[in-house]
Amino acid sequence: MIWQLQVLEEITTKTYPLTQSDHELIASALEVLEKNFDDGVYNHTVGGAIRCKNGNIYLGVNCDGIHGSCAEYIAIGAAITAGEREFDTIVATHDKALNGLLPPCGNCRQMLFNYCPDVKVILNDEHGTPVKVDVQDLLPLAYTRIIVSE
Ligand SMILES: [Zn+2]
Repeated sequence: MIWQLQVLEEITTKTYPLTQSDHELIASALEVLEKNFDDGVYNHTVGGAIRCKNGNIYLGVNCDGIHGSCAEYIAIGAAITAGEREFDTIVATHDKALNGLLPPCGNCRQMLFNYCPDVKVILNDEHGTPVKVDVQDLLPLAYTRIIVSE
């Protein structure tokens, strides 16, 4: 077997610098995780926060189980339950992760793409610097719903 070193191409995703509000969003997600952290039976190990376009923030922690949910799902579910439909920025956190930031999993990328295709996601870039990116850049050639009109 021949092993080859994988060379990553330079990422060309458009990035945006974090604002003070973004740092506060990260802090909120880390705080909700700290309050609810449980790596036992109820596996709450990720904190999420979503900021709506009106400035309201909703929080969530992941819920483990057969069909567990990521913190992003719980946070956006809380926002939607409260009647929110316009989303600005989302973040997932873990206190041991680089800069406290976790990128969304593939399932969450598709969910965010469906619910809020213009939302921005806070994560680390390829150099480990916290940035914001457009969710559409995290899911190129994404599945989209086909709407059939009569
Ligand atoms: Zn996820």
